[in-house]
Amino acid sequence: MGVWDQLIGQDAVVAELSHAASDESAMTHAWLITGPPGSGRSTAAIAFAAALQCPVGGCGTCATCMTVLAGAHRDVEIVRSDQLSYSTEDARELVARSSVVPADVPWHVVVIEDADRFTESAVNVMLKAIEEPPPHLVWLLCTPSVEDVLPTIRSRTRVLHLRTPGTTEVAQALQGRYGVDPAMAAFAARASQGHVGRARALATDEGTRLRRQEILRIPGSLRDLGSCFVAGEALVAMATEDAASICDPLDAAEEDALQRTYGVGAEGVTKGRLDRLMGRESKELHKAQTSRRKRSLRDQVDRAFVDLLSYYRDVLVLQIKADSALINDEMRPQLTQEANASTPTDTARRLDAIERGRLALAANGALPLVAESLFVELKDPLVRVRG
Ligand SMILES: [Zn+2]
Repeated sequence: MGVWDQLIGQDAVVAELSHAASDESAMTHAWLITGPPGSGRSTAAIAFAAALQCPVGGCGTCATCMTVLAGAHRDVEIVRSDQLSYSTEDARELVARSSVVPADVPWHVVVIEDADRFTESAVNVMLKAIEEPPPHLVWLLCTPSVEDVLPTIRSRTRVLHLRTPGTTEVAQALQGRYGVDPAMAAFAARASQGHVGRARALATDEGTRLRRQEILRIPGSLRDLGSCFVAGEALVAMATEDAASICDPLDAAEEDALQRTYGVGAEGVTKGRLDRLMGRESKELHKAQTSRRKRSLRDQVDRAFVDLLSYYRDVLVLQIKADSALINDEMRPQLTQEANASTPTDTARRLDAIERGRLALAANGALPLVAESLFVELKDPLVRVRG
């Protein structure tokens, strides 16, 4: 199996990709790898890249496989954006870079982790390169679903669908690969709802588990308008903290690299000269960093909303007595109380309010207003407050 080991519950996709890697007649130069968040889109793309480059089709242990899997192979470019979208300029640079002839491997592979972020004009820049690539070039475009890319891309690529892995598959993987004990593995698999990375974080990091508990305590804390605003602000504060713990080290490393490039601290380099030299690049870097932090903050808030969805989904399961396991089984007493205190109609409205909150987040709605409006609606699902 080798390079495919990291993929959980994706047998059909693995069969198709490994066949393409081993049989030239089954190979295609442009792929669209789709699947819900956490299903392993980029893991699949990078494993495929390794299988294509590896002399024995993806052993997972040779130098080529290891370098590709570590994201450090010169002929496997991994593109991921911290920006909300890719510009035409980004697309032009990407196309120019992709024309290189691979050094001592069969292919030059470009993995784009968020192909849904290309603007329409950026897509137009790439179309020709995707339709008629140089003989050694392979495009691996990843998106949540085929609807996320323009039809012009869809029609020029071979589409693969990853599925959400089942709870049992995720739990087994957590036990087998990370040595997580069975009870914790079962909890993390349930709570993550098939998101493999999230399952691993929940199973192995106590901070992540505590954070999730704080989020799931929010519904019980919404007693009046004041508490809705307090919860909204607290949620944004938590998300800001989490975004900082992701972005601060990245920012610092980039700042460091930029300063080293310009010889900060070297003898004879005056501050005035440095400012002139670094000015433009440093400004661009800060712009990119600000945008990354904003996106990360929104991602954190969205994840909290997904956790809240799981809470009310469980309430609904109890209310309609559905024959279905609870995602948050460890909270059964509180969920039962909530189920008895409201009707399925209330719960459906609350679920709908969370979905609308997620849309408002995606549409760049103002924080913490989006969170506060949502919590007001969760408190009293009959009142609609528009943010
Ligand atoms: Zn190998």
